[in-house]
Amino acid sequence: MFNLSHRTANALRRMAAGMATAAPRIGDTKVPMSLLEKGAYINYQRIEDNLAIVRDRLNRPLSLAEKIVYGHLDDAHGQDIERGVSYLKLRPDRVACQDATAQMALLQFMSAGMDTAAVPTTIHCDHLIEAQVGGVKDLARAIDINKEVYDFLATGTAKYGLGFWKPGSGIIHQIILENYAFPGGMMIGTDSHTPNAGGLGMVACGVGGADAVDVMAGIPWELKCPKVIGVNLTGKIGGWTTPKDVILKVAGILTVKGGTGAIVEYKGPGVESLSCTGMATICNMGAEIGATTSMFPFNRRMADYLNATKRGDIANYAQQFSHNLKADEGAEYDQHIEINLSELEPHINGPFTPDLATPLSKFAEEVKKNNWPEELKVALIGSCTNSSYEDMSRSASIAKEAAEHGLDVKSKFTITPGSEQVRATIERDGQIGAFESVGGLVLANACGPCIGQWDRQDVKKGEANSIITSYNRNFTGRNDANPATHAFVASPDIVTAMAFGGSLTFNPVTDSLVGSDGKPFKFSEPNGNELPPLGYDPAVDPKSDRLQLLKPFAPWDGKTPTDLPVLIKVAGKCTTDHISAGGPWLKYRGHLENISQNCLIGAINAENSEANKVKNQITGEYGGVPQTAAYYRDKGIKWVVIGDHNYGEGSSREHAALEPRFLGGLAIIVRSFARIHETNLKKQGMLALTFVNAEDYEKVKPSDRVDILGLESFAPGKNLTLALKHEDGSKEELPLAHSFNEGQIAWFKAGSALNLMAAKAKGQ
Ligand code: SF4
Repeated sequence: MFNLSHRTANALRRMAAGMATAAPRIGDTKVPMSLLEKGAYINYQRIEDNLAIVRDRLNRPLSLAEKIVYGHLDDAHGQDIERGVSYLKLRPDRVACQDATAQMALLQFMSAGMDTAAVPTTIHCDHLIEAQVGGVKDLARAIDINKEVYDFLATGTAKYGLGFWKPGSGIIHQIILENYAFPGGMMIGTDSHTPNAGGLGMVACGVGGADAVDVMAGIPWELKCPKVIGVNLTGKIGGWTTPKDVILKVAGILTVKGGTGAIVEYKGPGVESLSCTGMATICNMGAEIGATTSMFPFNRRMADYLNATKRGDIANYAQQFSHNLKADEGAEYDQHIEINLSELEPHINGPFTPDLATPLSKFAEEVKKNNWPEELKVALIGSCTNSSYEDMSRSASIAKEAAEHGLDVKSKFTITPGSEQVRATIERDGQIGAFESVGGLVLANACGPCIGQWDRQDVKKGEANSIITSYNRNFTGRNDANPATHAFVASPDIVTAMAFGGSLTFNPVTDSLVGSDGKPFKFSEPNGNELPPLGYDPAVDPKSDRLQLLKPFAPWDGKTPTDLPVLIKVAGKCTTDHISAGGPWLKYRGHLENISQNCLIGAINAENSEANKVKNQITGEYGGVPQTAAYYRDKGIKWVVIGDHNYGEGSSREHAALEPRFLGGLAIIVRSFARIHETNLKKQGMLALTFVNAEDYEKVKPSDRVDILGLESFAPGKNLTLALKHEDGSKEELPLAHSFNEGQIAWFKAGSALNLMAAKAKGQ
């Protein structure tokens, strides 16, 4: 026996393939990516060809994530490949946008002057539907209120040959899983939970709208070569423990920034015990640890789901390609996590952050210790994270058992189906009946309370209270805009059972409830079955307060920026919700001027610990952040923001970058950035800079004037300098790092990535 190096083995394999000229190639078979699109085929041949080149170059076993990512390289020969260091130019297979982010993406795409999108693209109307009284009425109201936007998206998609999913059809990620995701594919989506498609073995990444526009325009997508975190699953999931508990546990281990710059790759024998939709749940909530995406290897459970959704051809094709849809033996990971599913307990995460993980058996104790409001006001199941047939069936089994004991829910209880397909099926199969019979309220197939589209009436603003959801995100005020709402995240099973307990201290695994007959009973383990989209010109009314055509941002004037005021020095956590709030602002996502009135209004000013109250350094008066920024802009004064760690975490919304740019900002200088937001800022022509020494954050005073030195020789890897002029006349200089590459520096100089693209299109 001799050991051949990977390189030698590959060379021999190709020689053999070359000699046998008639050997079939994987690309000889044409399988459509989706039943809904003609002429767009799965391109496994590109992966095969790219990997042959990459294997020769790297000469080492590859992880699954590497195989799919490098399999989509634009130039496998010439591309630098170093995990965590190089920037990859990639060719995603498709693009998905939700309605809130799609407005700006479509407006930008229109200004690029293209006839049609270079890759299949879909737009999904799910974020703008407010939950109030129940699915049918809420949907009708939303269609009325958002008519202009829906009409624009419908006619725009028709004009440019994009897929359109009307309001009520379902939530983007569930629709993608049911119709478009496929093993080994690569997709970008203008929503941070795009990784949901990793449940079907896809590299699916949340991006800003500008990235989506690039790919729609046929420009390669740029991504820092991801590190890979391996999560080895052993044992078997069962009882009250669900796939959601895997990601709740992982979030507790890795925290909200532990996945930054990495793909989380699940593997091991435990994977086979997870349903495909369960794997999607795990990947979906991987966004909460900042991961680039999460994914699973192709397996029998994926094939079952593909078959159940009438895509048996894709399952068979993936089976033929399965050697490239799993990691190589001996693949190396940047970090390793072991989880024994047989020992994993249900978890409840929160409040206020999704990485505060508490095992169910310790939760009541934590509630008391931390004085969290014990009464459970509302229990909410569904959303894109947990709305599969399996999720709904298991929750319905709990509701049925409670009904048998004569119980109604004690807390309010809402159900959000992820798609019309799921809703219609669970109506036919009785799960909706089971929920309604115990007092559940079925909401529209849309984001609703998950994105703050919730006209909540049961508590007043500021009143401390607890809610529990099977959603993914629980930052302060996310669901109901009430900063005193303690939002916890758990599996749909735990959420449903707790609705009957009515208290955060109720443990459905160990505690009993009293039935209407006065007899105590304990819930049985939940059970449930795993399985069962316009040519019109898009017109924008100049008087519209919902849509506004974009004007290009000004290019850099080539001068050293001097004497810039600090608009705000942000203290502590600053998510994209703090920078560009959701809720009532969502309706302005197609109108940059209007939505910019929410810029940074949630961020806390380090000077006075207040939100939306900053000193105007020219007039000396205090005012709102957007108004002060606009004052500076209208006087021709550029400004900077100073921020803390992980600035811009959370939702991928590009408005958080567009707004400061629109209001005249030049630089955002922070201790560290969340990946998507950093890229979004660069795309809009802003300087995204980090303190070389994190403690230098403390040296900047909110009243400082600053110069940014070194831009005349702005280059990759070369630090810039922040020159501070304090109010008392003293001065100091601090080194600033950045992650701009040559291409991104060109975006800054051109004023934005889109400006550069438009100039190239005109041949300038
Ligand atoms: Fe909608 Fe919530 Fe899913 Fe985002 S996380 S797509 S807001 S349901």
